[in-house]
Amino acid sequence: MPAKVLVTGGAGYIGSHACKALAAAGYVPVTYDNFVTGWREAVKFGPCEEGDLLDRARLDQVIAAHKPVAVMHFGALSQVGEAMRAPGKYWRGNVCASLNLIEATVDAGIRDFVFSSTCATYGDHDGVVLDETTPQQPLNAYGASKRAIEDMLSDFGSASGLRSVIFRYFNVAGADPDGEVGEFHQPETHLIPLILDAVDGKRPALTIHGTDYPTPDGTCIRDYVHVMDLVDAHVLGLNWLRAGTGLANGGTEVFCLGTGNGFSVREVLDHSGVVTNRPVPTEEGPRRGGDAIKLVSGSEKAGRVLGWRPERSTLPQMIADAWRWHQTGHYAS
Ligand code: UDP
Repeated sequence: MPAKVLVTGGAGYIGSHACKALAAAGYVPVTYDNFVTGWREAVKFGPCEEGDLLDRARLDQVIAAHKPVAVMHFGALSQVGEAMRAPGKYWRGNVCASLNLIEATVDAGIRDFVFSSTCATYGDHDGVVLDETTPQQPLNAYGASKRAIEDMLSDFGSASGLRSVIFRYFNVAGADPDGEVGEFHQPETHLIPLILDAVDGKRPALTIHGTDYPTPDGTCIRDYVHVMDLVDAHVLGLNWLRAGTGLANGGTEVFCLGTGNGFSVREVLDHSGVVTNRPVPTEEGPRRGGDAIKLVSGSEKAGRVLGWRPERSTLPQMIADAWRWHQTGHYAS
C-alpha cells in the first residue's frame, strides 16, 4: 500500500501541483479542502475530502479514515491586499485553522509535517538577499499569520516531537507543463496571470502598483520560482523528514525557496511581451499597501541539505508555461 499524505489546500494552485508531484513520487495525496478558493476539477491525483480546517471533528474523521503518514499544509488565505483590509480573517483562517490542524496531527500520532510559509514574513531589509537567518518583520497580517504558524510548529516540535519542514516561498509562478493543473484564482491578484489577462484582452490593462520605489526602474523586485520546482522541494523535504536524518527529537527546519535572481515588475512585463509575442497594455498606478520593495532569496540551504535545484525557474519558462495554461486549461468559474 503506498503511503498517504494529507494535503490541505490540495485543490488550490500550489496544493494541486504538489499532489501531482506526490503521486509521481509514489505517495497517495489525500486532498482536504473547503473549496472556498480551491477547485474540484483540480483534484486529480488522489482522494478528495471536503472539510474546513476549523472543523476539528471533520479533520479527525478524515485522518482516522486515511491514516496519512504525513501532512502537507497548503490550505491558507494568501492575499496581501485582503489581509490589510481584514486582518481578523487572516488570524482566524490561517492561525486558528493551523492550530486545529497541528493539534489533530499530533493527537493522531503523525510526526512529519511540511508547511507552506512565505517571504512575506520578512518585510523590508534594505534590498539585501534574504536567507533563513534574516529577521522576520512582516508588513501585513498575511505575513504575520504565517510567522505565527512557524512559531507554533516550533513549540509543538519541542513539546510533542513534531518534525516539520517550513518552506518560505518567494513568488510562485508558471504551471504544470502537461496542462493537467494550473493557476486560477478568483479574484486574481498575482502579477503574471494578470499580465496574461491583459495580453489577451480579458482586462483592459495591467496596472503597475507603484513606480516610485527605490529600485533601478522604480518598480518592486521579486524572486520568481516555477511551481513545479517548488513542489519538487516539498517531496524532497517530506522524504528528508521521513528518512529521519534530521530533527530526530522533533523541531523545525526552515528552507527558503528562491533563485537568488530578482526581477522588477517592468522586467516581468518585458519578458511577457516577448514570450507571448504580443503587446502588454499597461498603466501606472499608486503603490499597493503592504508590498515590500524587494524580496529575493538564495536557496543555498535547500540545495545543500535537500539537493534542490530550481531548474525550471527562468522567467521565459515560467511565463511560457503560464501562457499555455492560460490559453488551454481552466477550471469552472
Ligand atoms: N503587481 C502589480 N500589478 C498587479 C499585480 C501585482 O504591479 O496587478 C506587483 C506587486 O505590487 C508586486 C509584484 O507585482 O510588486 C508581485 O505581486 P504578486 O501579487 O504577484 O505577488 P506578491 O509579491 O504580493 O506575493
